[in-house]
Amino acid sequence: MKSKADVVIIGGGINGCSLAYNLAKKKVNVVVVEKNYLSSGATGACGAGIRQQWSTLENTKLSIESVKIFEKLSKELGQDIEFRQGGYLIAIHDKKELIQAEKNVAMQRSLGLKVDILDVNKINGIVPILDVKGINAIGATFCPTDGHANPFKTNFAYAYAARRFGAEIYTHTKAIGIKTNQKKIKSVETDKGSIKTDCVVNAAGIDSKEIASMVKINLPIIEYRKEIMATECLKPLFEAMVISFKDGIYFSQQREGQIVGGIPIPEERSGFKTIPTFAFMQHMAKTLVRYAPILKHVNMLRHWTGFYDVTPDSRPILGEVKKIKGFIQCNGFSGHGFMISPMVTKILSEYIADGKFPAILKDLNLDRFKGEKIVYEKSVVG
Ligand SMILES: Cc1cc2nc3c(=O)[nH]c(=O)nc-3n(C[C@H](O)[C@H](O)[C@H](O)COP(=O)(O)OP(=O)(O)OC[C@H]3O[C@@H](n4cnc5c(N)ncnc54)[C@H](O)[C@@H]3O)c2cc1C
Repeated sequence: MKSKADVVIIGGGINGCSLAYNLAKKKVNVVVVEKNYLSSGATGACGAGIRQQWSTLENTKLSIESVKIFEKLSKELGQDIEFRQGGYLIAIHDKKELIQAEKNVAMQRSLGLKVDILDVNKINGIVPILDVKGINAIGATFCPTDGHANPFKTNFAYAYAARRFGAEIYTHTKAIGIKTNQKKIKSVETDKGSIKTDCVVNAAGIDSKEIASMVKINLPIIEYRKEIMATECLKPLFEAMVISFKDGIYFSQQREGQIVGGIPIPEERSGFKTIPTFAFMQHMAKTLVRYAPILKHVNMLRHWTGFYDVTPDSRPILGEVKKIKGFIQCNGFSGHGFMISPMVTKILSEYIADGKFPAILKDLNLDRFKGEKIVYEKSVVG
């Protein structure tokens, strides 16, 4: 193991590995330490949907710019990440949701996004299997360039490309401490040895809070327990991801034909219980069949648990903390950290390697929670 690096990244999920790639490409001497294996955190559990339809400017900008990167990423990384653009259809159920959708779409369009509010009778033109009456939809928003990629392939493609540019990635290597001197980073201590560095990136997903506590920084992150399922493979039925903020459901059909989707279980929110529950299966099956009755006889093949790292405003925590020089946050993704990772890590690599400090890093800095006015992301599922 290297005993010295310019930057040590803690966490080998999509954000740790894509940041390693962006830094290594800039000839930064970078090391990633991952306590388990790559994609063993939220990345390997995720739905991997990619949408640009958000209520806040920051999430919308990050996702629009990320989609531009995703469109060329297979070529750039030299591996097929299975990116496809079938769009996202977000159901609107009542007047309140319609008013919010109108605000969102106006803001998204101002940033150049092609997105529409659909009349209720246009919904089945996009997703023929939806029971529009059964779900009480009064309309929907639709963005055709939203999509999906394979989270494992994307995570590993970034890691392999990072290694080609000289990054070192150590799996089964746990960060157990961070040493500082006069409020500056000095080293990362791992269970395999010490790595001297003056820059540490905390990309440890739900464990980011624990990593920050090593240097007495408190991150306002709560873990939300989530379950998600996949059915048997079916013939192609629809291309878009379907979401409802009211019912909390999201589902799409994958390239191989299975339906993948999730829904929050009303009685469960936080805690580290990883065993999937029967309550989820029942609630998901009932709601999915209400949305698409044609799926009534389809078998659910497996389901699993993962965790969101949720911040008070459902926006990520990015950039250097004021209290400790060289301690950079890349966490708090609140359930949408896969889709924005390409742009998030590009911005962070430009900050670390080139000293660039765009306004978005100020807007999403940890210090925003001290301010009086918090801007909440409203377009979140459950
Ligand atoms: C059910 C579910 C569905 C989701 N659906 C979507 C979706 O459709 N679209 C989307 O964009 N996002 C989705 N997400 C969210 C997305 O998965 C995450 O935001 C994203 O994967 C976060 O990536 P990350 O690299 O920041 O964290 P992670 O993938 O969690 O990686 C963090 C890594 O840090 C490692 N680590 C922790 N502590 C240490 C330590 N001490 N030392 C070394 N390593 C350590 C962990 O082992 C882990 O591998 C979903 C999440 C879940 C759970």
